[in-house]
Amino acid sequence: MKRLLILGATGSIGTTAVNALRKGLMKDVVLTGITASSSPLLPQLSEEFHVPYLYAKGNDSEKLSAFIEQTRPDIILNAIAGSDGLGATLSCIRHSIPIALANKESVVMGGNFMLSEAKRYSAQIIPVDSEHSAIYHLMKKNKAARIIITASGGPFVDRKDLENVTVEEALHHPTWSMGKKITIDSATLANKGLEVIEASLLFAFSPDKIEVTIHRQSIVHSAIETEEGAVYALLSPPDMTLPITLAISGEGQGLKNIVKPLPFSQGFSLTFEGWDRTRFPLLALAYETLNMGGISRIAYCESDEVAVEAFLSGRIKFKDIPSIVEKTVFSMAALSDPQCYSEILEAKETARRTAEALC
Ligand code: NAD
Ligand code: MG
Repeated sequence: MKRLLILGATGSIGTTAVNALRKGLMKDVVLTGITASSSPLLPQLSEEFHVPYLYAKGNDSEKLSAFIEQTRPDIILNAIAGSDGLGATLSCIRHSIPIALANKESVVMGGNFMLSEAKRYSAQIIPVDSEHSAIYHLMKKNKAARIIITASGGPFVDRKDLENVTVEEALHHPTWSMGKKITIDSATLANKGLEVIEASLLFAFSPDKIEVTIHRQSIVHSAIETEEGAVYALLSPPDMTLPITLAISGEGQGLKNIVKPLPFSQGFSLTFEGWDRTRFPLLALAYETLNMGGISRIAYCESDEVAVEAFLSGRIKFKDIPSIVEKTVFSMAALSDPQCYSEILEAKETARRTAEALC
């Protein structure tokens, strides 16, 4: 039996993982503990699964470390939302425990420092983000020369005038049901920007070897291209249960019928479209940050988080999000790259202050 600890158990990813356990989809897995930042659902879940719970922020390292020692997991699902998730990832790494990592911000904020810590402590990182999960599993079987990341395009892919976008409209994602932060990021394509950075760092691919294509159906989760030009893709319905259970149980570990079969004999269409740099400046900027320093990626991630919070609380307009992120990234570009966690936290604080002042 694999003992599973879920961080951020009450959110969208956490709930999908909990539902997979309820349905008995991961027969080799037993829940051993759950955390969340504040949700009242947590004690209920704890009672249902007879496991201890902890209210903690991602950067609450001492509390999290003690909870990891108390619950003794074999694998930890980091389903925390936002840049605070890096602290939690580092706590897991320092216990040398494999991490099923949904919190993409950990990779973007922690960058090469986080990845070298994972190596140093032999803590395996298994991506949960559907695109990175697809790439990770495809790469086990084939050598990739190029990565092709799919993007649904979000709710505004066809909308020209973004002047009066409401919070409700931006929260209405066409293919995925997710937490608020990632849903707004999907509307600006900052989510795809974070994913391009995540892919570049996780798989050590330079930005010119990573392509993004708009694929509205969210069925092709991503693809890899070999030197010969063959393209291998992972297809499944848009349901996070598959990447989550694959990361926790592992491929070929007895998982069965995790998602509905695709209706090939009835037929369905898959389309791929290019994307426009001027319409989606945050995706273009994410590529640029990969040619800048680690500090610019921290600035990108944190200022986007600030801007999304400001939009959700009605302080700024939807169309202000990209310019706040751009201004923060360029104002911090000349600063030196952080080399350790405390320097990352300092850079995060600078980005937060800079972006707040622009809101
Ligand atoms: P969510 O907002 O639905 O849930 C977040 C969970 O984390 C909750 O349990 C909440 O209590 C906890 N949390 C929030 N802030 C915290 C903090 N500062 N410290 C500790 N815990 C905190 O978010 P989500 O949509 O489930 O996304 C979680 C992560 O997974 C994000 O990094 C997101 O980008 C990534 N992701 C999500 C999806 C999806 O389908 N939802 C898909 C791919 C990747
Ligand atoms: Mg994704």
